[in-house]
Amino acid sequence: MAEPSFDYQRIMAIVAHPDDVDFLMAGSAAKWSSEGREINYVLCTSGDTGTANPDMSTDKLASIREQEQRAAADVVGVKEVVFLRYPDNTLQNTIPLRKDIVRQIRRLKPEVVVCGNPLSYFTPWGLNHPDHRASAAAALEAVFPSARDYHSFPDLIREGFPPHNVQEVLIEAYSNDEDFVVDVSGTFELKLSALKMHESQVGTDPARLRQFEKQLREGYSRIGIKIGVIYAEPFKRISIL
Ligand SMILES: [Zn+2]
Repeated sequence: MAEPSFDYQRIMAIVAHPDDVDFLMAGSAAKWSSEGREINYVLCTSGDTGTANPDMSTDKLASIREQEQRAAADVVGVKEVVFLRYPDNTLQNTIPLRKDIVRQIRRLKPEVVVCGNPLSYFTPWGLNHPDHRASAAAALEAVFPSARDYHSFPDLIREGFPPHNVQEVLIEAYSNDEDFVVDVSGTFELKLSALKMHESQVGTDPARLRQFEKQLREGYSRIGIKIGVIYAEPFKRISIL
């Protein structure tokens, strides 16, 4: 199966936490940026509760995780990383969150938005995080109809952000529901490097990192084999008419 055409120049990922986007699409981001396309990330939270260490403050962890995400984004050639800094673990699909996302969509004008699946309670590796559903729902509702409509959020017009039409959405698809698969065989090592930048989450223990890497290689090669390549990232593709 040949890879379907994908001629877009500006792609924006909208996710809940640092590291989400690297699981979701770091291989694709590296590929697309190497082709001269513009990739931007919007993170709804800074992952400030993502630790089992009671001595780690949420402020300090947010700062560490933002640095880790910026480093990971640099590995794969991302232009800009935007942190909306909503509190971790309690993210809700609210109108203020949707508006903050609309502002970024109108400012950066992506043709394609990449996000999670707002319906996903279960994943192949267990329960999905509620923040992932909330960020995905907010992202989709920002894309359609709010970023497009002149009369939604009129104060954004006054801020200098007129309506913008996103043309397609790519939604994560880890449950055999993909219909758009990106061959990331040439950039998979960069995806691994990006994921390893999230030291606060993956640690530095070599044995643990080897196991992590093995699981990733196995998981993404299972997607790759479907299109006859070594590694691939899976999405569900939706056109917005
Ligand atoms: Zn997450």
